[in-house]
Amino acid sequence: MRLRSGVFAASCLLVEALGVALFLRGFFPVAVRSLPRREARGDPPAEPAPPGPVVDRCQQYLLAVAKSLKHHLSRLCRVHFSVVLLHFPYPVQPSYPYSNGMVSNWTKIPPPLFKKVVLVLIDALRDDFVFGSKGKQFMPYTTQVVEKGTSYSFIAEAKPPTVTMPRIKALMTGSIPGFIDVIVNLNSPALLDDNLIWQAKTTGKRIIFYGDDTWVKLFPKHFVEHDGTTSFFVSDFTEVDDNVTRHLDRVLKREDWDLLILHYLGLDHIGHMTGPNSPLVGPKLREMDNILKKIHISLLSKEEASLPNLLVVCGDHGMSETGSHGGSSEGEVHTPLLFISSAFEKRSGPLTPPGLVQQTDLASTLAVGLGLPISRNSVGNLILPVVGGKTMREQLRFVHLNGFQLSRLLQENTPAYEKDPGYEHFKIAEKSHGNWIKLYLEGNNSEILLNLGKKVLKQYLEALKTLSSSLSKQVAQYDMYSMMVGTVIIMEVLLLLLLSIPKALSSQAEFEVPLSPPLFSLLFYLMCLMLCAVHVIVCTSAESLCYFCSMSWLTAVGVMMLISALMCGILSAIAKIFENFRLPLKNLVVSSSSWSEIDVLILAGTIGHVLSLGASSFIEEEHQTWYFLINTLCLVLCQELCRNNFLLKEWEPHHSTTMKQNFDSVGEASECKNIDIPAAGNSKLSKATSSAEFIKGSDKWISLASPWIILICCRLLRSLNQTGVQWAHRSDFGHWLTSSEHKSELSFLAAISLLMILFLVQRRCSLVSKIAMALGLLGVYSYRAAIGNVIFPWQHDSKDISKGITEARFVYVFVLGIVFTGTKDLLKSQVISADSSVKSTGLWEVYSGLVLLAALLFRPHNLPVLVFCLLIQTMMTKYIWRPLKCDAAQITVMHYWFGQAFFYFQGNSNGIATVDISAGFVGLESYVEIPAIFLTAFATYTGPLLWAIHLLCYLSSEVNRNSAAVGHGCFCYAVLRSVPVAIYIVLVTGLRYHLFIWSVFSPKLLYEGVHVFITAAVCLFFMAMDQKHSQKV
Ligand SMILES: [Zn+2]
Ligand SMILES: [Zn+2]
Repeated sequence: MRLRSGVFAASCLLVEALGVALFLRGFFPVAVRSLPRREARGDPPAEPAPPGPVVDRCQQYLLAVAKSLKHHLSRLCRVHFSVVLLHFPYPVQPSYPYSNGMVSNWTKIPPPLFKKVVLVLIDALRDDFVFGSKGKQFMPYTTQVVEKGTSYSFIAEAKPPTVTMPRIKALMTGSIPGFIDVIVNLNSPALLDDNLIWQAKTTGKRIIFYGDDTWVKLFPKHFVEHDGTTSFFVSDFTEVDDNVTRHLDRVLKREDWDLLILHYLGLDHIGHMTGPNSPLVGPKLREMDNILKKIHISLLSKEEASLPNLLVVCGDHGMSETGSHGGSSEGEVHTPLLFISSAFEKRSGPLTPPGLVQQTDLASTLAVGLGLPISRNSVGNLILPVVGGKTMREQLRFVHLNGFQLSRLLQENTPAYEKDPGYEHFKIAEKSHGNWIKLYLEGNNSEILLNLGKKVLKQYLEALKTLSSSLSKQVAQYDMYSMMVGTVIIMEVLLLLLLSIPKALSSQAEFEVPLSPPLFSLLFYLMCLMLCAVHVIVCTSAESLCYFCSMSWLTAVGVMMLISALMCGILSAIAKIFENFRLPLKNLVVSSSSWSEIDVLILAGTIGHVLSLGASSFIEEEHQTWYFLINTLCLVLCQELCRNNFLLKEWEPHHSTTMKQNFDSVGEASECKNIDIPAAGNSKLSKATSSAEFIKGSDKWISLASPWIILICCRLLRSLNQTGVQWAHRSDFGHWLTSSEHKSELSFLAAISLLMILFLVQRRCSLVSKIAMALGLLGVYSYRAAIGNVIFPWQHDSKDISKGITEARFVYVFVLGIVFTGTKDLLKSQVISADSSVKSTGLWEVYSGLVLLAALLFRPHNLPVLVFCLLIQTMMTKYIWRPLKCDAAQITVMHYWFGQAFFYFQGNSNGIATVDISAGFVGLESYVEIPAIFLTAFATYTGPLLWAIHLLCYLSSEVNRNSAAVGHGCFCYAVLRSVPVAIYIVLVTGLRYHLFIWSVFSPKLLYEGVHVFITAAVCLFFMAMDQKHSQKV
């Protein structure tokens, strides 16, 4: 069977996308947790027993035997037996009768410490908004309570990803949610783990909630009263909060609730739109301060003699210097945590800076405060000062319960838990606790007892800290089997692509796929059988849950057959290469002199970039790599142009022949070896004449200047969006433009940019599309004006801001219209086989439709990115590629590099925080999943996508080019994407226990994964456009 390069590349990428999906599923598994909550209602442990003389060695031995038996049994059949065993009384501390008849019979959960609890969560509340100068200025009441009132204040550290939903989960379960929560952030299913809200509801507490409707989705039917507000319209600063506050007066007067949760979103929205230093932040903080004052006074006024009330103020995450969140910068992870209650002692003495705690600590602390069991998956520690007013016995009881819960979680997740230092500490502390109880029960109530208690408390706290740190490390486990299968598929595809380079880039651009030589079919069946056997063994012996094993047998066998087939393909390709080596020697004539500077740069650049992916700083600052590469590329092109203009005249015939010899060259597995220089003999002639023509014109000087103009464009773009991590906080031109006092400048720039886009795009469109484009771009401007980003010249005072739905839909109509016209032309050229100009117009129209869509989705300050993108493409096409006669492979690589650079020029980075989710809501009344995901993905990958489509436009519009050019382009594009993905996946597997795995490597993995899916789609489009070639051959 013969396959064309385009078809081959597209199918390879589809298979690769499958492998990537499997790998991602294994890499981001559901976190390993404790048993489901329904089975987990074991009794709380009793207080540690005082060591009595009755406890002799014999009993200790029996206990040890029982424990080891339980351990082995549960390892054997983890799921079924451990459920049963957990219902056994825990064998370590039964309450022994004490010698003088006294028994510690405190086996119940301690009663609640607070009557009512109000939890105020202010989204994106950064620590310096409360404790810094902003807090002093805008939150006077809170500052006064923090400094002189009855309160405890802390800085709570949130773990990345600092995104709302995982943070709410962490606050309420005390566990560390996996990274996968970022992806499902937009579509939150109900929380099934044991959590504070569920515990409170089961013990009959009445909970009221107002605010972000993520809570209502996470805890359906848990609230006796709720009013959820959607958080997706980030341009709304007031309504989201008024929606919460309007209930407040009524609820505070009532007595029929125990827990009130308020989640304020306005501050987060202000951060997203204008950043942490915007003038809007101050008034918002003042509003929050007044609300806190109101709640606090109301709680104080209703306090009775029985129990005090508690007010908790916290943030789910902070915000970065640009106002977004998701990453791990200090501003994003540090949030304030305040406990305010009349139960605490009044603050006095010099002001101490707030201590650092973990965000997960809140769940255990609130559980103790409300008299509930601590959630089973919680890795948090009790914040001791909050219970500091209680007696020593009670305090010890609380920390013991916390330690018991942590050590049980450790037992369920690690086989070797007994060797864990935290577990050892806990056992020691438990023993001294028992001794303390003995003294206590004897009626010893002196100073000594208190001091001894303090010592025990300290031991406990140390144990808690060690336990939770070793648990936090273990919470995430990788599904290695799925990862391995995915990696094998990806590596096989990569090998196959690399081995087929010489054939795929030959002038025919197609090759033989050996389907059924008998040897390979035998090998194929053998491998299938072997792999299936391995699958059965792995899946029956695996201890933990594995995604690939949970798939149906048929799918698994299908995947195994795929792997075997790919393996056979690789082997046959290798065999063929050896055959070619042994056959005639003519191929060895290929000389290395045919490598131009561009080829060397392309190869070195690709290898260098791939190698740089192993270092976290290179990933954080990946934009620097790409900027460097395209700048170097411009310099090399400049040199090449000089040579072409001044020196090459006499060299040319020679140059051309060496290039020609390269056809069908076998050898170097570099993605740049390749040729589609016009095949026939007249090419030399045409080239010479065109070159002569070219040199005559004044175009020569424009051509010589164009690399320098491109360099200047790149420099300007660089200063537009500061990206990466290290220098992301530095002010850039984009910030200057978006600040509220420069609105008129921004409007001017946006208008100019839109005009430029129209000018650059229209020249190759049909008349209808031209008009549609102009109207569409006008619609883009009025959309931005409607949502308040830019102003019309006649509009002086800022009028009321709308969501701009009508305007955005107006633009969508034109986008669809232009794309439709383009598709119609394409179909016409495909079916009726009209001349190629119809086809290239059609392609260009599809391209311009995408440009219009990008103009709508881009923030107004990013519109120059689009202009420069079009400008550079035009210059490259006219003045560089055409005169230099670059081959399809070189042009593809250049397109790919510029696409990558534009990915960063538009403000993206390898962190989750820079994804502009507001793009997913342009023109939508409410959140609709599929369009939102599509629009966000398009807005994020606009740069690479536009360059890829431009590549297709360019390659198919060049008439004098070999008809295989599109196939070559598609193939090179596939190779360029596969190399970094395959290597990165191997690297990330090796670095999976790296300190920065969550903050740096995982987001990058997600970006790479999504990019593979997009490239696969682009390659399919290429393949569809490659039809003409097949008809000709
Ligand atoms: Zn948030
Ligand atoms: Zn946010």
